[in-house]
Amino acid sequence: MSALEELAGVARSCTRCSLAAGRTTVVFGEGSETAELMVVGEGPGRDEDLQGRPFVGRSGELLDRLLAEEGGMARGDVYIANVVKCRPPGNRDPLPHEIAACRPYLDEQVSLIGPRVLLTLGNFATRALLETTAGIASLRGRCYPFGDTGAVIVPTFHPAFALRNRNETLPQMRADFVRAKKALTDLAADKTGNQ
Ligand code: URA
Repeated sequence: MSALEELAGVARSCTRCSLAAGRTTVVFGEGSETAELMVVGEGPGRDEDLQGRPFVGRSGELLDRLLAEEGGMARGDVYIANVVKCRPPGNRDPLPHEIAACRPYLDEQVSLIGPRVLLTLGNFATRALLETTAGIASLRGRCYPFGDTGAVIVPTFHPAFALRNRNETLPQMRADFVRAKKALTDLAADKTGNQ
């Protein structure tokens, strides 16, 4: 069993916060354990809670489409996780103490997978990883160093927001997915010394 699978096993019986009481399933995350791109969302919705998999509802359809169309990647090429692993009741925003309680799982996922690019979807994921209180609209549009790991964070809107504000938001999201893909290519070229 891999270290990531062991961690998922621990998370499955987690009671670190009160979200445990209302969940059907812990949505730990899924994808390639050696992914170069890690996608971080907010928290499971109803479909995800029922199926135990991240981004399987309408937001997930859009995520899959953008990964394919702008990144040339399939869902199985990346790793997808959320800031909180259990569904907040009624799809409310996760609370600061819930995010803090769940944070060690996310940190461990990132450290075990070691992605080169972290694509953060929406305010909660972006604020958590960039350690800021600024909003996604002002943060997106560029890459940020992820500490001194050599990896970068590429913030973008949450797909659920794009589904509500298609005309304005979707082109910006597409540009961010292209930015993430380019960051992957650039980092790979740096590693091999190629341009
Ligand atoms: N929204 C999220 O942030 N994560 C999911 O897994 C599904 C919807």
